[in-house]
Amino acid sequence: SLHYVGDIVGTALDRARKITSAHKIEVDIPPDLPMLRLDPVLFEQVLFNLLDNGSKYSPPGSTIRVQAWADNGSVIVRIMDEGPGIPAQDLERVFDTFYRVRKGDQVRAGTGLGLSICRGFVEAMGGTIAATNRTDRPGGAFTIRMPVPAQARDIGNRGDEPSTDQP
Ligand code: ATP
Ligand code: MG
Repeated sequence: SLHYVGDIVGTALDRARKITSAHKIEVDIPPDLPMLRLDPVLFEQVLFNLLDNGSKYSPPGSTIRVQAWADNGSVIVRIMDEGPGIPAQDLERVFDTFYRVRKGDQVRAGTGLGLSICRGFVEAMGGTIAATNRTDRPGGAFTIRMPVPAQARDIGNRGDEPSTDQP
């Protein structure tokens, strides 16, 4: 079924708030994004895993940003933090099962499964997920791209037409 991604981000944030009160979380998601065909339970788990990482691998008091925007037939959702980011040679490997960049120096232990689950779920819903580092400052950035179904593009376009009763 069709979902507004801002609603699912809201649910994931409610859950993330229970594991970190030490981070500021800033959300920038426009209200008029196209709807997406996705499983809201899986998509929420993806966002939660990324927020969990963002809070584990960045200093307390820093800001995690969640942004979404429409881009060329897709909706992009990006989660960015202010931690050390990910070494270039590990940007693809972090999605491997049980792969962890720095073992033993982390606030909360992990198993190395979170991102492999993210990739499996996103791809099952027809999207892609990639790890990069921020370009504006140090920090990790995870980008999800979800295709907008043709049906939802029609709905979006109708809203832009001028109403017939205008002078
Ligand atoms: P789990 O999610 O299973 O509890 P985990 O967080 O270690 O454990 P993943 O979420 O798969 O596993 O992440 C894999 C590794 O990628 C992490 O161990 C960490 O080294 C690195 N990583 C993930 N997200 C970030 C991030 N935002 N900043 C820096 N490093 C990250
Ligand atoms: Mg994780």
